[in-house]
Amino acid sequence: MARWIEETFHPHWRVRLEASKVLHEVKTAHQHLVIFENETWGTVLMLDGVCQLTTLDEFVYHEMMAHVPLMALAAPARVLVIGGGDGGVLREVLKHPSVAKATLCEIDRTVIDLSLEHYPQIADGCFDDPRAEVVIADGLKYVADTRERFDAIIVDSSEPIGPSAVLHTRAFFTDCKRALKKGGILVTQNGLPFLFPEHLRATSEIFASLFRATSPYMCTQPCYFGGPFALNWASDSANLLAISAATLKSRMAKRTIETRYYTPTGHLAAFALPGYVEKVITEAVELARSKGKSFAKSKPPARKRK
Ligand code: SAM
Repeated sequence: MARWIEETFHPHWRVRLEASKVLHEVKTAHQHLVIFENETWGTVLMLDGVCQLTTLDEFVYHEMMAHVPLMALAAPARVLVIGGGDGGVLREVLKHPSVAKATLCEIDRTVIDLSLEHYPQIADGCFDDPRAEVVIADGLKYVADTRERFDAIIVDSSEPIGPSAVLHTRAFFTDCKRALKKGGILVTQNGLPFLFPEHLRATSEIFASLFRATSPYMCTQPCYFGGPFALNWASDSANLLAISAATLKSRMAKRTIETRYYTPTGHLAAFALPGYVEKVITEAVELARSKGKSFAKSKPPARKRK
């Protein structure tokens, strides 16, 4: 009899996935991990009862986490990925020929090892790329201690629970800002705004208080049940948010990067926010402003309610 594995993240409803085969299940030093096969989604990774990825749709999230910040930069050379032990974001980052070195800082070695064992096609050899560096450490401590400076920092964390909770804090984002080169970009996963607007509001308020320009962008990640998924962007270079489709098109062609979800026009469309998300951002920026800690202009400019 097949086992049904539940996602336990949502307090009042559950998603159950049939496990045609449980490949590995363990309580690591940091979290509960289970990897299993499902007829529809392929191989699935769940951490602490939250679906992290499936081999069917992982490309959506990984492409949008990597290419939106890196295509906006003329020649990104030094990139930091926090979390992301499955290797999907690193895979996409290393598609950019100007990237000379990319560091992946993951707290749980087990995620990397088991990802390579059960779905090596996601990393697709990126860990063997001479430009890749892997650091097993808590991302909070890594950015607090690093003396390096990065063109982009991409936070591929889990939800703000367990070991990942620290990766959604002001202290962490403040150190991320310090570790960015001038005009560098910080991007983080920011959850499901339809169900958890407070997650997006909290991060947006922090970003608005630390950076000149901030805005979430959206993607449709089928296995993150609960509506469109938010990624959040912050930089002191507001002009990077105003990049043209023509520039993105020519960069993508020059870099000969192939994708299945990311497109230059989709890049710009991802920043066109649904009204309920725009409302959350407007409130977050106003909250930061009311605390006298805001010099960010959210994008698009806040509309005054009639
Ligand atoms: N896409 C997924 C999501 O949005 O839920 C995230 C996927 S990725 C597998 C999350 C990774 O972050 C995991 O491998 C986890 O071990 C790692 N992680 C959690 N807390 C961390 C921390 N404090 N420092 C570094 N990595 C961390």
